[in-house]
Amino acid sequence: MSVVTRSLPDDLTVCKGIGVSPGIAIGPAYLYARVSFEVEERSIDPEDVQHEKDRFEQAIRKAERDLHKIIAVTREKLGEDSASIFEAQLLILRDEAVYPAILAYMEKHGCNAGYAVQTVMGKHRQMMEASDSEYLRERSNDLLDIQDRIIRHLRRGRILSAVEESSIIVAENLTAADIILFSRRGILGCAMDFGGPTSHVSIMARALGVPAIVSTHGATSQVSTGDMVILDGIRGELIVNPDEETLAAYRVKQERYARLMQEDKQLVGLVSETLDGHPVSLQANLELREELPLLKEYGAEGIGLFRTEMLLLMEGRAIMTEEEQAEQYLKVVEATRPYTTTFRILDLGGDKLLPMGHREHNPFLGWRGIRILLDKPELLIPQLRAILRASAVGPVRILLPMVTTLGEVRKLKAELETTKQALRDEGIGFDENVPLGVMVEVPSVALQADQFAREVDFFSIGTNDLTQYVLAVDRGNDLVAEIYNELHPAVLELIRMTTQAARDAGIPVSLCGELATNLRAVPVLLGLGVTSLSASPIYLPAIKRVVRAMKLTEGEALARRALRSSDPQEFRAYMDRWLEEHACGVTFFLEGSQA
Ligand code: PEP
Ligand code: MG
Repeated sequence: MSVVTRSLPDDLTVCKGIGVSPGIAIGPAYLYARVSFEVEERSIDPEDVQHEKDRFEQAIRKAERDLHKIIAVTREKLGEDSASIFEAQLLILRDEAVYPAILAYMEKHGCNAGYAVQTVMGKHRQMMEASDSEYLRERSNDLLDIQDRIIRHLRRGRILSAVEESSIIVAENLTAADIILFSRRGILGCAMDFGGPTSHVSIMARALGVPAIVSTHGATSQVSTGDMVILDGIRGELIVNPDEETLAAYRVKQERYARLMQEDKQLVGLVSETLDGHPVSLQANLELREELPLLKEYGAEGIGLFRTEMLLLMEGRAIMTEEEQAEQYLKVVEATRPYTTTFRILDLGGDKLLPMGHREHNPFLGWRGIRILLDKPELLIPQLRAILRASAVGPVRILLPMVTTLGEVRKLKAELETTKQALRDEGIGFDENVPLGVMVEVPSVALQADQFAREVDFFSIGTNDLTQYVLAVDRGNDLVAEIYNELHPAVLELIRMTTQAARDAGIPVSLCGELATNLRAVPVLLGLGVTSLSASPIYLPAIKRVVRAMKLTEGEALARRALRSSDPQEFRAYMDRWLEEHACGVTFFLEGSQA
């Protein structure tokens, strides 16, 4: 395992970021500088304003033509769902908050079209960048892409997305359109100073299989075009001008990764079952329609958790209408059937955006998830109606977030029944038996799991929150990250109580927190009685590798050990040795895992 554990020489320049698309790329860097145009204000005589408006309209048409081309390439390479990113951009061009506002600005200020575009779209971007929502902040980059596209056409500039072939792109930021166009030139990977895992460019990189890292905090100032670089999309690192020894070690790692990926492809078609014949259903956590092609690619048996916050709050406008939601959910269900889609209804609050502009001192213990939905039927009812409507075309389950009390579940069930009756009265079809489940993410639910099991059709264990609530440690606070231990015996005990209650009541239980992607935890979780895991699709093959390499009885013994363990370091080392002996291929991924 020398490749995995070897530490890098101290004098090497290593830019640390977040790996958003796994894989290893080795090659020359190409520093890509996005050409952004700063447009000067020019005054336009009143009689010429119409001419300026016509120029604006022409630029919009050219931008539409570009986007149609990009949509066609994306469709061909990645399918319809990935193309929807650009379809959304296409809509923004004529969005009612943008297009008429630009015309009105030109009219009012008698200024040039480029300046009006820059000012109006700039204001929208500023609002998005200042938002509490990571999703909106990341989408502001898409808006900049559209703005640049229009301005370039106003200047009759050519859209230059040309880069050096077979290079590793290092850029401050890239857009989803950039990466689509670059992929035609066979780029090896990309590193960006900014961005997050859920930005469109990250989603595209994963879909295209281009290794990528984001949030490097300044890789562009450390790298020059032509430098030899190693991009490690698993660890999230960019190594600049490595020494021979590091290079050789990474070449070995690259080969091993390629071999593993090859083997993973074969794994996709194999059953997910332990050596002693216990099936373990592996499902996907998704948030965006563009991720749907990953279901098939990574062999997911349905969607164990569809977080609806991102989808519903797209474009930073008001929450989608029932009609808009129904259209989105239908597409998700159609792409997932015959497998089941589990839609979690809005989990607002906590660290997630609250569109009502509400602020709290202690949001994780405040107005969050089902607490908000029960107070705000105008959010709850359209979403329930839209999900029920989608259930007419394929199997759907409804999952409730942040449940604390039995009373909340009962109230929600009453709302669901009223909603169903309204649909029946209107003659709208839906699945009468849509299962209703709760997230087990607040300790009270795990402690009363036997009573909850009588009220609901399934459990989904959310270890991200369960851990923070059991150990009283904020999941997003670096200062206490050491204490945030999802394998703490107290967390595991609550998981055990939950699976036990589910088994007694004969209802399914799955686990959808990040813990499912911690390969050290997988045998323990199965040993604790978890029969289904849901995770970001790219992790599913490695999880399946562990499942297929173990016996359930071994998992049970490991679970007993974990429940007794008082030393996280010791247990971690023990699991590393266990994995090395039983499923050695997967240890490759451990270095990149959070645990
Ligand atoms: C969880 O809490 O484990 C979970 C899956 O939900 P989220 O991460 O969306 O809070
Ligand atoms: Mg949660």
